[in-house]
Amino acid sequence: MSKGLPKRSEDYSLWYNELVKRADLAENSAVRGCMVIKPYGYSIWEKMQAELDRMFKETGHTNAYFPLFIPKSFLSKEASHVEGFAKECAVVTHYRLKNAEDGSGVIVDPEAKLEEELIVRPTSETVIWSTYKNWIQSYRDLPLLVNQWANVVRWEMRTRLFLRTAEFLWQEGHTAHATKEEAQAETAQMLNIYAQFAEEFMAMPVVKGRKTENERFAGADDTLCIEAMMQDGKALQAGTSHFLGQNFAKAFDVKFATKEGGLEYVWGTSWGVSTRLMGALIMAHSDDNGLVLPPKLAPIQVVIVPIYKGDDQLNAISEKAKEIMVALRKAGISVKYDDRDTHKPGWKFAEYELKGVPLRIGIGPRDLENGTIELARRDNLTKETFDLSSQAIEEKIGNLLTEIQDSIYKKAFDFREEKITEVNSWDEFQTTLENKGGFLSAHWDGSSETEDKIKELTKATIRCIPLDQKEESGTCVFSGKPSKGRVLFAKAY
Ligand code: AMP
Repeated sequence: MSKGLPKRSEDYSLWYNELVKRADLAENSAVRGCMVIKPYGYSIWEKMQAELDRMFKETGHTNAYFPLFIPKSFLSKEASHVEGFAKECAVVTHYRLKNAEDGSGVIVDPEAKLEEELIVRPTSETVIWSTYKNWIQSYRDLPLLVNQWANVVRWEMRTRLFLRTAEFLWQEGHTAHATKEEAQAETAQMLNIYAQFAEEFMAMPVVKGRKTENERFAGADDTLCIEAMMQDGKALQAGTSHFLGQNFAKAFDVKFATKEGGLEYVWGTSWGVSTRLMGALIMAHSDDNGLVLPPKLAPIQVVIVPIYKGDDQLNAISEKAKEIMVALRKAGISVKYDDRDTHKPGWKFAEYELKGVPLRIGIGPRDLENGTIELARRDNLTKETFDLSSQAIEEKIGNLLTEIQDSIYKKAFDFREEKITEVNSWDEFQTTLENKGGFLSAHWDGSSETEDKIKELTKATIRCIPLDQKEESGTCVFSGKPSKGRVLFAKAY
């Protein structure tokens, strides 16, 4: 393998980009801001999808699919929605190419202009609510609990693999309800599912909170979010759940006959997580040797590497390795046996370290004699010799995988806790942000002007008003005006 990765402490951003490429997760494509997700990266995304999809279905949601193209007029129906997305829209204006008369190549056929221009969906509220108008007539049609897995396009100017791309993969839930309370409960429920997924599967602690008016989704009455802390002290918004009030129902005239015989607008929610979660996963746990994957999302949980000279040794080791594989697979543990003779064991060790395989089993001739194997943990790089007669292998490995999952979470949690600092003056705010980074828990006067001013001066934004915010009267770190509680500021991705 080529030389090692750049160090996080020296150039975090370069480390991240190199890691994404060298671990075979993704690469840039011919179109600026778009990426190719490579098979290894995609298999991690598939594991994320599978768990999230299960959680959505367990809470009564079903999947559907809506079109990629949205008539321009739909987008304009909800005023703040179009205002929020206008700057990032890709627009389809023509439907045909033709050969240029001067032979210079293929050009857009000016005669094939669309009557109505189409927007490549940046999000699907408009197309979905225009459909819901036909699906919803009475209270019996509610609630409507739909999710779609899709790609969307937002013409982002500053892009970065996974974290912010012009085209990204995501899921978007769109639900319709008879009452405000029910829609609000759905918004909270989906945020909790995202937080549970982040913590239990990604091993990534998150803060659940509410966005300020400035940061709210365009067209929502309320935006809830989960915020995570990356190893460079920057925050990352990892998922959002929006209470849409009756905004889209009004824009698309979606009314339902109530039980009591009245006619009322429907209440809505929408919620989404994207391939940004891949970036979060990479940034939250990985180290200077490569990826560190939580076992619950690792495409390969265990790799077995034989250490041998000659075919006889390899055959004897392979027999033992196959026995182990059968036992592990039976227990639902994914395992790969890498007996390629094109690479040396040392090369393979480094490769699986780079790829973040949680556990590596090494078997050499001496192990065969002794009835042992070598177990190496990716997360803390420790090794142990395991006596195969002492405990069932699937039990030992199963326990170790659980231990690794827990210990990765704990490490990220301790790091995050250390990165939350209460600050009580403007001076403290600035120096802490500069020297330590992380979340600054500070009093804020509640005004957009102060929020904007702080952002302009320091690049820190209000990541969220934590849902578990304590009532505590104080004075705003910037304006000195009264405040009822602390909010979390940070520089963010
Ligand atoms: P939103 O519809 O703006 O609430 O975003 C829904 C989800 O998509 C959030 O979890 C965002 O973190 C994520 N997201 C937004 N923009 C991008 C982007 N350009 N690339 C990747 N993920 C994104």
